[in-house]
Amino acid sequence: MPDGLESESRKLLGRLRDTMAEEAAGQARLDKICALTADSMGTEVCSVYLFRDDETLELCATEGLNPEAVHETRMKLGEGLVGRVARTGKVVNTADAPAEKGFRYMPETGEEIYSSFLGVPVQRLGEKLGVLVVQSKEKRQFTADEIYALEVVAMVLAEMTELGAFVGEGAALKARHTRPALIRGTTGQEGTAEGHVWLHEPRVVVTNLVSDDPETERTRLHAAVEELRISVDELLAGASGDADQVQVLEAYRMFANSKGWMRRMEEDIARGLSAEAAVEKEQSQARARMSQVSDAYLRERLQDLDDLSNRLLRNLTGQGRETGADLPDDPILVARNIGPGELLEYGRKLRGVVLEEGSVGSHAAIVARALAIPLVVHATRITNEALNGDQIMVDGDQGIVHLRPDDTVVSAFRDKMAMQAKAQERYASIRDKPTVTACGTQLHLHMNAGLMTDLPSLAGSGAEGVGLFRTELQFLVRNQMPKRTELAALYARVLDAAMGKRVVFRTLDIGSDKVLPYMKPNDEPNPALGWRAIRVGLDKPGVMRMQLQALLRAANGRPLTIMFPFIAQYDEYRLARAEVDKAIERETKLGHAIPETLEIGAMLETPSLAFAPRRFFEEVEFLSIGGNDLKQFFFAADRENERVRRRYDTLNVSFLTFIEGIVARCEDTGTPLSFCGEDAGRPVEALCLASMGLRTLSMRPASIGPVKSLLMRCHLDQVREVILEARERGEQSVRASVMAYLAENA
Ligand code: PEP
Ligand code: MG
Repeated sequence: MPDGLESESRKLLGRLRDTMAEEAAGQARLDKICALTADSMGTEVCSVYLFRDDETLELCATEGLNPEAVHETRMKLGEGLVGRVARTGKVVNTADAPAEKGFRYMPETGEEIYSSFLGVPVQRLGEKLGVLVVQSKEKRQFTADEIYALEVVAMVLAEMTELGAFVGEGAALKARHTRPALIRGTTGQEGTAEGHVWLHEPRVVVTNLVSDDPETERTRLHAAVEELRISVDELLAGASGDADQVQVLEAYRMFANSKGWMRRMEEDIARGLSAEAAVEKEQSQARARMSQVSDAYLRERLQDLDDLSNRLLRNLTGQGRETGADLPDDPILVARNIGPGELLEYGRKLRGVVLEEGSVGSHAAIVARALAIPLVVHATRITNEALNGDQIMVDGDQGIVHLRPDDTVVSAFRDKMAMQAKAQERYASIRDKPTVTACGTQLHLHMNAGLMTDLPSLAGSGAEGVGLFRTELQFLVRNQMPKRTELAALYARVLDAAMGKRVVFRTLDIGSDKVLPYMKPNDEPNPALGWRAIRVGLDKPGVMRMQLQALLRAANGRPLTIMFPFIAQYDEYRLARAEVDKAIERETKLGHAIPETLEIGAMLETPSLAFAPRRFFEEVEFLSIGGNDLKQFFFAADRENERVRRRYDTLNVSFLTFIEGIVARCEDTGTPLSFCGEDAGRPVEALCLASMGLRTLSMRPASIGPVKSLLMRCHLDQVREVILEARERGEQSVRASVMAYLAENA
């Protein structure tokens, strides 16, 4: 790049910095930036357009256009050339603007006399803030250097906007992060919560954007990158064995050594940016690209670059995760993503969790569900929008987040929470009553659990026992395989807390989405159909034997119930059961106490098991339908895939008929049957399952009240009749018919 241009650019940035430092109202600053830019670029016009709302841009300052049009001229996203820059995030550079497709002339601005047009997006970390434009009468195409210079001004503008430099008296600009925002995501865990934002990873704030000492900045950048390289190498040295982690770190190393990345940042510094501003400029561009690529691999790499930039920014600014802020009393955790261990560390202190990424089946979601904390995942842009301490309301039922809500939203939300609290009070009044329906049928409601912290709910919810204890959670939240003694102590505490109520311990159900951090992951084309649960247990019996021994020791003579997950055929049950027999033999030889009664059952999670030989049904001591998995295999619809997971209704007649068949087979052989998938905790679904003959349902503790309340008001025989008639009529799902019945009768 020619030296002259470099120093021009530095000069402009220097003048921008002085403007920023001056005591001036926001609007005056913005006006001055326009004047300086037009002057420096030799154009008659320089204008700033900023977003008023998601769809509307407003002319907020100008040099050269009619000043009366400021804050009057507005355009829609995509409208005219400015709207095109805003929509596409791409530069528009033309010598003959009126001849451009989509050109729209705004008469009030007086822009008709300007022929050349250069517009660049104003964006920060992938967030579109507006458009910066220069125009001139002379018909000319702008050079690459001029485009670059305008982009740098746009970046400074974006940073200054973020820092609130344009707020204040006379400014029509509102401070950033002050407006209410409604953010839509996906339900990770139902429930509602109100509180204040706690950022898991607070943003790095860059205040020094401009520097006129490029040598010093280059040295700082090199030192920070070197520090980063060393730390990545150290991490790599310590990460051997964990394929995923190694892959990510190698991608980090590749970027840290990337010449292109370094060169671009050095050029930015040569033009007058500080080292951190140069890093952030690269990061912003990577984010903008990220929002446009659909290729998952490429997105992940851009994500790596984003993480790396954050580390580099922390090195440069010395800002760590600790900001000195105190955890609010009612914290709602906001993060791009979080590991299960980290989430558990916060534990029940949290009122809610909002993740920008995450997924319904992620480990963090499993933990949030176990902790019964409302969770919204896929909350787009939340980490950019939210600031520590912002008021926030999380609607886990709808998958919606209200950030900095206005008064009407606050009162509507509080009404909803109050109604839910009232309903909870109503449920408390029936908590200790048996679940007997209006037609006199007795049902049994149990709860699902997985953590020690779940156990107090046993008394609080009125559950008759623990119908499913997911033992894998203990394995998932650790960094290494738990020891037998640790597990035995933990299971013993679970049994102590249950005070004689039945606890169904499900043996380790890993694989598919549940990957243990310390076990080498298998690269499987189809993990949900792959090496998981009992398949792992039987092929590598070491862990299963250790777990069975821990369970027997924990029981120490007390009754014990064990359930094997994902049994697809009779043989798998027989082999697993043989392991229990061997474990008992070993314990007996060692002189340890043997459970007074021992029940061994299986989960029915694949359609194949419903058609197992009669002998299986006679032999197994109980069965529990794992509806989450069973449904995904029945409809061939991945339970973790947002596109398909809600496509088939649980109340689809095919599925209910299938359930009816399983009930009939169990009645025939006298095999106790329960249902422990998520659907058991949804009142209408639970009612239909009961109407098809299920008598034991196991669900999240918070669901017991609502399910019980509905069941107690209903006649199962009548609901069954409604279902059978709907089936007769050829309805695909019985939902509408059942809802119509309930509207009249319940
Ligand atoms: C199920 O599949 O329904 C079940 C209860 O097990 P999990 O959700 O843990 O796979
Ligand atoms: Mg399952």
